[in-house]
Amino acid sequence: MIYIGNHVSISKGYLAMGKNENKLGGNTFAFFTRNPRGGVSKAIDLDDVKALQGFLEENKYGTLVAHASYTMNLCSAKEEVREFARSVFKEDLEKMEKLPGQFFNFHPGSHLKQGYDVAVEQIADVLNDTLKEEQTTTVLLETMAGKGTEVGRNFEELKGIIDRVEYKDKIGVCFDTCHVWEAGYDIVNNLDGVLKEFDDVIGLDKLCAVHLNDSKNPIGAHKDRHEVIGGGQIGEEALKRIVQHKAFEGKPFILETPNNDAGYKKEIELIKTWMI
Ligand code: FE
Ligand code: FE
Ligand code: ZN
Repeated sequence: MIYIGNHVSISKGYLAMGKNENKLGGNTFAFFTRNPRGGVSKAIDLDDVKALQGFLEENKYGTLVAHASYTMNLCSAKEEVREFARSVFKEDLEKMEKLPGQFFNFHPGSHLKQGYDVAVEQIADVLNDTLKEEQTTTVLLETMAGKGTEVGRNFEELKGIIDRVEYKDKIGVCFDTCHVWEAGYDIVNNLDGVLKEFDDVIGLDKLCAVHLNDSKNPIGAHKDRHEVIGGGQIGEEALKRIVQHKAFEGKPFILETPNNDAGYKKEIELIKTWMI
């Protein structure tokens, strides 16, 4: 049993996302809570959300992994950018609560020239201001490739954020295979070692979801260029070992590979055969 899916468009509404994923053979999916480049979010149609909820239960979907807008930078050096990000984060989290119990993944941010020590406090401040004891959504920090001044370039940077969050049961980590590889972790030759390190630094109990991607670049490149499964430098065999690893058992796997629907359908089909 595996939960596998890809990014689907929210443009036709919530139920349509579930139906679209079904056509591709998936049983989980990711979607942007608003335009990935930012911008205003549409008012939510509660009947449509309820319809999706019924659809997910009926079709035994795994937990969904919503994705925050890329432009939302909780640790920008500019205060007005930070404050905008805070309001976006809050609004998106409220929206997520209409579809209870899902994951909401976000990039911790780019600290620009402020440095990690300033950024970690800014990110934690928003989380402590926003996360509520009664919320059903788990917020996920994504492991990053370390491009530019990205926060989350190693497990320690994510741990630093988690340490400062009050409601620790509301926060987890999304393991992006392309990013982890480009950050310098050898998931091809030493997957067990990397997962041991994750466990020692963060704790495997915090591992909630996977972005399953190949990478165009060699280990440690810090460039963040995704590739189709088996078409990049991680390769099919290493990705297969990840999917089959017990540390990832039962987690939703989301493809963020450069593909159209036909390509996603083929990848989902292939990955399902790894679990038989
Ligand atoms: Fe991401
Ligand atoms: Fe990702
Ligand atoms: Zn990426």
